[in-house]
Amino acid sequence: MDAISYQRAADVDGAISAAQRPGAAFIGGGTNLLDLMKGGIEHPVTLIDITRIEALDRIDTLPDGGLRIGALVRNSDAANHTLVRTRYPLLSQALLAGASPQLRNMATVGGNLMQRTRCAYFYDTAFAQCNKRAPGSGCAAVGGFNRMHAILGASAQCVAVNPSDMSVALAALDATVQVRGPRGARTIAFGAFHRLPGDRPDLDTTLQSGELITSVDLPPPLFSEHAHYLKVRDRASYAFALVSVASALQLDGHRVRTARIALGGVAHRPWRANVAEQHLAGRTLSASTLREAAAAELAQAKPLSGNAFKVGLAQRAIIRSTMLAAGQGNRDGDFA
Ligand SMILES: Cc1cc2nc3c(=O)[nH]c(=O)nc-3n(C[C@H](O)[C@H](O)[C@H](O)COP(=O)(O)OP(=O)(O)OC[C@H]3O[C@@H](n4cnc5c(N)ncnc54)[C@H](O)[C@@H]3O)c2cc1C
Repeated sequence: MDAISYQRAADVDGAISAAQRPGAAFIGGGTNLLDLMKGGIEHPVTLIDITRIEALDRIDTLPDGGLRIGALVRNSDAANHTLVRTRYPLLSQALLAGASPQLRNMATVGGNLMQRTRCAYFYDTAFAQCNKRAPGSGCAAVGGFNRMHAILGASAQCVAVNPSDMSVALAALDATVQVRGPRGARTIAFGAFHRLPGDRPDLDTTLQSGELITSVDLPPPLFSEHAHYLKVRDRASYAFALVSVASALQLDGHRVRTARIALGGVAHRPWRANVAEQHLAGRTLSASTLREAAAAELAQAKPLSGNAFKVGLAQRAIIRSTMLAAGQGNRDGDFA
């Protein structure tokens, strides 16, 4: 068993200063970090409990009409907040699709952004090969059980996927991540926060060591009328996504003015479907236009031995989610 010291931070400055010690880690709800510690995957020396920093446990409107969600707001509180439900229903739906009520009551927004992959080879230290856990050791999933793994943007070093539902909605909404570190504050565009694996799959994000996420900022709401989060999974609840789709539209009648589509469960980071979005812009929304857009997006997929089914599943999920965002069809209908 590892020896761990525990420290409770009273404010942001105190948390950042404590985090400069080697082996320090922030702990929010602990719903991921404690599992990783118990499994022998992560070995922090000092846990810095940030949950009592009141300034980060609030949701405020921004001068531009956007919304600032503090990093310590619990997933349940964010999902059920009136301004999130009414102005950003996509985010509320995605949060409520994640985990279980008990976990959502504990999990924080910052911790959700930072949660690690659910690749079984990453979690099982009996497998020597995992470039994410032990850089340079190889990837057992490439030739192993890879049904849940990536079909887009993977590398020979890692085929793990990002498991967060919340992050898929935030990618579609063009959120920003506000962080503070020893060198001050900075803003990270959501699309630049999570990384593709490349040859450094041990790095999930572009957050620097010792930096604290202080909030997630949402731009003014443009998609409150037409948005839908669709999660396809093996069980109806309490299961990670095989594929998920966050769809948000601005419509002029049946014509698409703007389409924002992001996919979960398919890549090492939330996957913004830029190709599909461009295909839809300016077109009349129909099942056939969506079928073309989804096929164009997934043309770049490179499935593994066990997950070719995800290519078609992702296309059908894009079609269904986006039709539901537009208010067309019903939740049981099949548009594909
Ligand atoms: C059984 C189970 C099922 C789940 N199902 C789903 C699911 O379907 N969908 C889904 O999206 N998620 C799911 N989750 C994951 C859950 O959402 C995450 O565990 C949770 O969001 C993590 O938040 P936390 O506050 O508990 O993070 P913690 O465990 O406290 O921390 C996680 C990581 O974030 C870092 N961290 C925390 N806060 C900050 C901060 N402010 N700044 C910088 N770093 C920080 C920590 O150092 C740590 O590395 C599931 C979890 C479990 C256990």
